[in-house]
Amino acid sequence: MYIPKFIPLTALFLFMMTSCSQPADDPQVFNEMEYTPQQTTFCLNAPSDAQRVDVRIYETALAEQPIRTVSLKCVGEDRWRATVEGDLKGLFYTFDTGHGECPGTFAKAVGVNGRRAAIIDLSSTDPEGWAEDVRPALETPADMVVYEMHHRDFSIHPSRGSKYPGKFLALTEPENIQYLTDLGINAVQILPSYDYATVDEARPDVPQYNWGYDPLNYNVPEGSYSTDATRPEVRIREFKQMVQALHRAGIRVILDVVYNHCMSIDGSNFQLTYPDYYFRKVADGKYSDGSGCGNETASERPLMRQFMLESVRYWIQEYHIDGFRFDLMGIHDIETMNLIRQEVDKIDPSITIYGEGWSAGQCAIEHERLAMKAVTYQMPGIGAFADDMRDAIRGPFSDDNQPAFLAALPGHEESIKFGLVGGIQHPQVDMERVNYSKAPWTVQPTQHVSYVSCHDDMSLVDRLRASFPGIQTDELIRLDKLAQTFVLTSQGIPFLWAGEEVLRDKKGVHNSYNQPDSINQIDWSNQEKYQDVYLYYRGLIGMRRAHKAFRMADAELVRSHMRFLDAPSCVVAFTLDGTAVGDSWNHIVCIMNSNRTPHRVTIPQGTYTVVCRDGQVAAEGLGQVEGDVVTVGAQQALILHD
Ligand code: CA
Repeated sequence: MYIPKFIPLTALFLFMMTSCSQPADDPQVFNEMEYTPQQTTFCLNAPSDAQRVDVRIYETALAEQPIRTVSLKCVGEDRWRATVEGDLKGLFYTFDTGHGECPGTFAKAVGVNGRRAAIIDLSSTDPEGWAEDVRPALETPADMVVYEMHHRDFSIHPSRGSKYPGKFLALTEPENIQYLTDLGINAVQILPSYDYATVDEARPDVPQYNWGYDPLNYNVPEGSYSTDATRPEVRIREFKQMVQALHRAGIRVILDVVYNHCMSIDGSNFQLTYPDYYFRKVADGKYSDGSGCGNETASERPLMRQFMLESVRYWIQEYHIDGFRFDLMGIHDIETMNLIRQEVDKIDPSITIYGEGWSAGQCAIEHERLAMKAVTYQMPGIGAFADDMRDAIRGPFSDDNQPAFLAALPGHEESIKFGLVGGIQHPQVDMERVNYSKAPWTVQPTQHVSYVSCHDDMSLVDRLRASFPGIQTDELIRLDKLAQTFVLTSQGIPFLWAGEEVLRDKKGVHNSYNQPDSINQIDWSNQEKYQDVYLYYRGLIGMRRAHKAFRMADAELVRSHMRFLDAPSCVVAFTLDGTAVGDSWNHIVCIMNSNRTPHRVTIPQGTYTVVCRDGQVAAEGLGQVEGDVVTVGAQQALILHD
């Protein structure tokens, strides 16, 4: 069992007696403020030898002078505490350990721009019916169709017709929820929605944009997505309303969490409360920068690890979050990720965890300890984004202009097959011919996030334009559909970037993290313009969700019941045995062809119903074929069943 270094047994006793009164088997060492109408207790993790630890209490979020300053006492190793008598509700506070004021590391409510923490009664932020809110059922992560979205991208364009453009509340509006359920997705992964630094919440009328990978307060919703960032309870209530509305529609909410770095070291709440503790350093004393953002946190250190555990638990318990996407998970250590999985399992094993199994630079810790994609098999129940299949389909992240399978370039088939099986060992996948991975990296296919595009890259449309100079719209549409057919027939977790279904583009911008709405917004008039594309996506999503054979969710089942067929270059063909997994379709044949010519493929003899052909999907069928040879058209997928 893991015991944080700052609560050895003697200190643990002291801690139990004097801390913000949590049971010993459920330590909440980051519980920094506990309010009752009679008194408020402040706690902070700061070095035992700090010269002072003060809490300053303010009338408002912006008042110049505190109305009180109270000194905390050291009550255990690295543990400080003070109790202030009286009813402090509605007031604000900061901690000061001599390095500058901050709202602490674990503020649960903050004023505008997150500079001061707020004393509120959290239970008053629950929307009506919150106690009855339930997590939509989920048997396996393979049953999810994840839709990655940003609050502004989704609802800021007038074509969305949203009453709350760019706000949490946009995802409570019936028309917007209806859009998601019509499309058929059942999980949204929302770009950072905790309080981040760059957008000035005091200027809500000025259009400002950021993805939000610049964390400020990890445990408070971002103010600019609320209707009033100056009232601390509003963002909390509206976030909960959003979760509640999505849950009512059967949609799970996956939070994008960015524990791997802070906006900056100097101004970070970590550094201001406990200098140099939370960040890794390299041998010469400089800060390591595995995130590419100037710093990297040290998840292997007890306080940082505990912080992540408590933060994840808090989002689940207070906000009813259903899953987590760990940004640059490869910066965190394997042990921490496994501890988080165990902690989450205690609450609900169906809560999903996956992340980016890479870092953005070298980390100052032994490489073999890092939660990289290649060692996903060491983290049961935790998934990783699959760049193998992504790049095999559309070309590498590092070069927007370089195409791959979609351009009928041979040699990418094996990497795609590896993605289709969900990154597991499969007798028909030759790992020697897979682009990046020389060994299977998952134990279960549900650890494999299958995708061709996401926020931090070109949209698929832009990618196709960049890698196919002069491409015409009809060809672009054919290839776009073909690309997503792999995603939605993969045994991994299918992941779609919002708006791809209406051919969203970003005017060619790759890293659009701080670009204006004009680049990032989704123009929903495209839905009508490219209705055929929308219907194809919707059709495939519906087909996957209706047929268990596409989501067997178990490596042994996939190895036994997913068979690849001999196929020409730039054609990938496989069968799924539906009877073996209780599917209403007995056998399914999927054939994907990126060649500019049709190709014949030998399939098991039978009479089949065609459900996908010529860029159309129809569960009721598009005709019949008989025999043991079929022709797959140029640049398209053919899906049959008997
Ligand atoms: Ca903010």
